[in-house]
Amino acid sequence: MSIRKVGRNLPSDLSRRHFLALGGGVAVASTLAACSAGAEGGTPAAGKDLRSAIRGRILLPGDEGFDLAARPWNSTIDQSVRAVAHIADADDAAALVRYAHSAGMSLAVQPIGHGASGAAEGTILVRTDQLDQLRIDAGARSARVGAGVSWNAVQAASAAANLTGAPGSSSAVSVAGYTLGGGLSWFGRKYGWAADNVKAFDVIDAQGRRLRATADTEADLYWALRGGGGDFALVTAIELELHPAPTLYGGRMLWPVQRAPEVLAAFRSVTGQAPNELTVWFSLFQFPKAPPMVGIDATYLGDAAEGSRLLRQFDDIGGRVSDTRSTMAFTALDSITTEPSTPTPSRHRAAFLADLDDAAVGKLLAEPVAPLLSVQIRHLGGALAEPSDSPASAISERYYIGFLGIQTKPDDAAAIQARSQKYLDALGPELIGRTPFTMLTPGQTARDAFSHDIIDRLREIKRARDPHGLFRSNYQVLD
Ligand SMILES: Cc1cc2nc3c(=O)[nH]c(=O)nc-3n(C[C@H](O)[C@H](O)[C@H](O)COP(=O)(O)OP(=O)(O)OC[C@H]3O[C@@H](n4cnc5c(N)ncnc54)[C@H](O)[C@@H]3O)c2cc1C
Repeated sequence: MSIRKVGRNLPSDLSRRHFLALGGGVAVASTLAACSAGAEGGTPAAGKDLRSAIRGRILLPGDEGFDLAARPWNSTIDQSVRAVAHIADADDAAALVRYAHSAGMSLAVQPIGHGASGAAEGTILVRTDQLDQLRIDAGARSARVGAGVSWNAVQAASAAANLTGAPGSSSAVSVAGYTLGGGLSWFGRKYGWAADNVKAFDVIDAQGRRLRATADTEADLYWALRGGGGDFALVTAIELELHPAPTLYGGRMLWPVQRAPEVLAAFRSVTGQAPNELTVWFSLFQFPKAPPMVGIDATYLGDAAEGSRLLRQFDDIGGRVSDTRSTMAFTALDSITTEPSTPTPSRHRAAFLADLDDAAVGKLLAEPVAPLLSVQIRHLGGALAEPSDSPASAISERYYIGFLGIQTKPDDAAAIQARSQKYLDALGPELIGRTPFTMLTPGQTARDAFSHDIIDRLREIKRARDPHGLFRSNYQVLD
């Protein structure tokens, strides 16, 4: 994790140390416990013939390295799988699909497991790390991205050609997992959902056939995969549209929480008139062993002079303790929010938020953030609200609200959940909308992410394309 202007960045440093401490210790302990329970708990192993069916590495329960390979990134999630398959390439992926089909087994494709929900129980877990191809075509402004590639690699390769993709707050997530779920990007207001930037998917379908899904071929698959998740096929590569990346300005400002009413008022005002190049997120923080804070995270697709002019209302708010804003590289986006890049035992909840009226502001500021680590409001609108023929379709809500807590002990999960729910209940159904698919959390289903029309169409495609339920995504559309 890179942190700029370290000397002025006390709360971010605190959060980093906290994440690292928890990610290193608690994560390992709780996941080892979960995995060993799963292995002993009797999920039958896949047949040994699986090893001869594919060329990639197969790990079965009891094999050295199995527990580690089966562990999801979010270590609070228990997933007891039959086997872990590191597929070697697209042909291997096809062989694995044919094997699973003939053996009556299901596949859970999980590049990293950021979104693991427990649904992979009893499946063959597919790891895509060897599908690591990445080719940038600067002239065509496109990238061909293997299913094992994360955003940090795409951003680095794109930046070398003065281009950018549409990553979110953490470039540690896989391009495939994030994009198949829609993908809410820093640059979404300008370029739409990450899924809106997909030109083609190379897939293995449930019959083991290699297909290419575009707007003109396998159009139903192309539609479903642009935001409906990975329930319909095994994606081996994605072709993405990239965008010009001349200059980027951004960073984080922090104040003591007593300034929250002023910061929120400025946030409402700035987001009320922001051009699509400007994205501003508001957060309330309770970093461990630190006073509560309020923060603004921002990116501006343009130069520092115009970016700081657009954000100047925040300069009038006194007491600022940290400001990391500067011209920044397109590869340095993660330094804004300093989210954990190592496995972290966290719980989250999120929803679209119709508006931030006075009543909503009052409810948000009424109570302390603890036991949560943060309450974050992201500004939406712009291209995210434009009509798009995909499951990640036009979002009319102006904002997104997300709650995050770190689970240091089992009881924390209930406390985090209860606190998040309290905020949601206070804001009420007239303001709280659906959950972005990539932000679903265990206990929710795909229905929580989609309108009736969209979930019905996704289900129809699932039944037609995968009638035996061979693919099992973290959040399945038939649930
Ligand atoms: C720190 C952090 C920050 C985040 N920030 C954002 C953000 O700003 N915006 C946002 O939208 N999301 C964000 N997310 C959520 C993230 O996008 C989802 O968790 C996403 O699912 C991660 O993808 P993954 O591959 O890493 O996870 P995994 O759990 O490994 O995969 C997720 C799902 O993707 C599908 N899938 C993945 N690859 C394939 C494939 N090759 N074929 C078929 N299906 C496949 C599977 O159905 C799987 O269930 C964040 C998550 C974290 C942990």
